[in-house]
Amino acid sequence: MKIERDLLAKNDALAKDNRHVLEHQGVRALNLIGSPGAGKTALLEATIATLRPHVRMAVLEGDQATDRDAQRIARAGCHAIQMNTGTGCHLDASMMARGLQRLELERGTLVFVENVGNLVCPALFDLGEHAKVVVLSVTEGEDKPLKYPHVFRAARALVLTKIDLLAHLDFDVAECIAHARSINPELEVFHVSAKSGVGIDAWSTWARGS
Ligand code: MG
Ligand code: ZN
Repeated sequence: MKIERDLLAKNDALAKDNRHVLEHQGVRALNLIGSPGAGKTALLEATIATLRPHVRMAVLEGDQATDRDAQRIARAGCHAIQMNTGTGCHLDASMMARGLQRLELERGTLVFVENVGNLVCPALFDLGEHAKVVVLSVTEGEDKPLKYPHVFRAARALVLTKIDLLAHLDFDVAECIAHARSINPELEVFHVSAKSGVGIDAWSTWARGS
């Protein structure tokens, strides 16, 4: 599809600019991608609580409507900006550029982008981030990596959330990870519960990148 190719080429050029800006500013940005309800915002709240004494952070919240998640992040004590996409189903590099400008970043800031809840097209749109992270909850199917391979291929890390619920579910963690690594052997995997705090330290250390 030519239109889609042109659209993505234009996006890639803008993403390259964003990457330069981030490098120049000494800012690390992670792009969190997952279905609605995967626990992206809860993961961020727990991550902020863990890293807040050590690193300056900011969050770009993407949702079709409302600023509810930006409010949650602000209540967790972190600077957040909400971006609404209306009928759009993903963030693109131009939205990322505007969001970064509005954040007025200081050197050394760790930026989390919470993409619009969607496992499909956010995989295709480079924002200029350092890494994409797939957030998948154990209340979803372990076959999600096979059904939505693009995002698992594009990501550097997989965060498996809500593991405190495993005792109540038939979710096969080993099978899920095997599926994910069959698509992307390099994938880092973290098992976390934002509720109990299990795994949040290990994930946060990786997110911080040092
Ligand atoms: Mg959210
Ligand atoms: Zn989309």
